[in-house]
Amino acid sequence: MNSQLQVMKFGGTSVGDASCIARTAQIVANAAAHFPCVVVVSAMSGVTNRLIEAAQKAAAGDSSVGASLVKTLHKQHAAALEVLIKDPAVRQSVMKKLDEVLAEAKRLCDGTALLRELTPRTLDELSGLGERLSAPLVAEALKALKVPSESIEATELIVTDAFHGGAEPLMDLTRERSQARLSPLLDQGIVPVVTGFIGATADGKLTTLGRGGSDYSATILGAAMDAAEVVIWTDVDGVLTADPRLVSDARTIPVISYREAAELAYFGAKVLHPKTLNPVMRAAITVSIRNSFAPDRPGTKITPEGRSIGGGVKALTAIRDVALIAVGGPGIVGLPDVVGRTFSTTAELRANVLLISQSSSQNDICFVVSDSDATRTVEALRKEFAQDLAHHKVEHVTVVSNIAIVAVVGENMRGTPGVAGRTFAALGRENINLIAIAQGSSESNISFVVEDRAVEKALVATHKEFRLETAAN
Ligand code: ADP
Ligand code: ASP
Ligand code: MG
Repeated sequence: MNSQLQVMKFGGTSVGDASCIARTAQIVANAAAHFPCVVVVSAMSGVTNRLIEAAQKAAAGDSSVGASLVKTLHKQHAAALEVLIKDPAVRQSVMKKLDEVLAEAKRLCDGTALLRELTPRTLDELSGLGERLSAPLVAEALKALKVPSESIEATELIVTDAFHGGAEPLMDLTRERSQARLSPLLDQGIVPVVTGFIGATADGKLTTLGRGGSDYSATILGAAMDAAEVVIWTDVDGVLTADPRLVSDARTIPVISYREAAELAYFGAKVLHPKTLNPVMRAAITVSIRNSFAPDRPGTKITPEGRSIGGGVKALTAIRDVALIAVGGPGIVGLPDVVGRTFSTTAELRANVLLISQSSSQNDICFVVSDSDATRTVEALRKEFAQDLAHHKVEHVTVVSNIAIVAVVGENMRGTPGVAGRTFAALGRENINLIAIAQGSSESNISFVVEDRAVEKALVATHKEFRLETAAN
């Protein structure tokens, strides 16, 4: 372990404007006075959405979108720079660097509008621009506090496969490149400020790690650099017992296990990208979640074993924007390979299957994928089962939208009888209809499918049933 190295990641709201960047820079400056730090930053809040929207408009043939995008982003970043950097010469040279990145944005939008075609690779190039604009700003803000700093594009560090929009890191190469590039800087007391969200293939094509992927960038770099800790600075006090936007009395959980946090992240707790914990699990690196707007609060620590007290249920989460796909009909009982073929089809598409439910007395296999994967999954399944559909061995491949998965998570649920019963009784009292239910064999998660409009009610009822607002978890 790199005895004291800390990787500190700041999300979009933590670098949302000049005052947020100044607060972030102060947090880093305080830490850097005590131990070596690598900083990872997201784009300023709203920028990635704006870039993706522009890409889509360009693909529809809007030839003016590039120019207006550049104007808006120039204004936003120049305004922050104006407040953060007093020296006009420094300000000018930083803005020149940012304008070069913005010129790329214009070229990409113009080219897309001309061809009326948006490839996954171009979408990655465009959507990854926000971090390339924010990292130099944060590095300059640090220099203004007399902390030596250098902004670095993660395309130099994180090597990924070529799956645009959701790339996976190749850890050996990433480790090699990150150490070669970052260690000399750290040895000189320089704080590297690395762009989150992006990486590049071994031959240099820019990729992105998926929406919200800067959390993942931080733990990838934490593992690659053998860091002592990864701290994710965000806009809430830590991991809460439920999404505070949906459950008003949600409470911060002081300590949580890798497994619990991973389940929450996987089942939609936006505070962590679903893959955040993968890179650090083996090395047992602690991940903390802290509030950059209230840096004195202790936050949440995610550790290998968590803290095993409390009544079992630790937290709730929900994934919306998902669809339930069913493959079935009476004939499938005689087709032993339906399950295999269904899931090799989803695997080929890299469609992320979030929940599977099959009961032997029923004739359906149903599973849940995100809305964005639903259409192509159904199309691929109809193709895979074309013969069987024609011969009525498989009767249907159907899709239901406007549903959501709610997950009840807690490592100690194992051996705590009655959690499922209490959950479903609470939902029953609220007249919430359950569309499907699944429980993993690890028993650290019970998840169920409800109509999307019932999500809030389901969360509030379950939160209350397990007294999560008061429990000493
Ligand atoms: P960042 O920009 O820092 O990456 P995100 O918006 O991606 O921040 O994630 C933080 C948000 O996640 C919070 O503002 C909160 O609304 C939401 N959230 C959802 N579920 C939870 C949870 N269980 N605990 C904490 N925050 C959650
Ligand atoms: N800026 C990227 C996004 O909005 C990555 C991140 O913020 O983590 O998805
Ligand atoms: Mg995030």
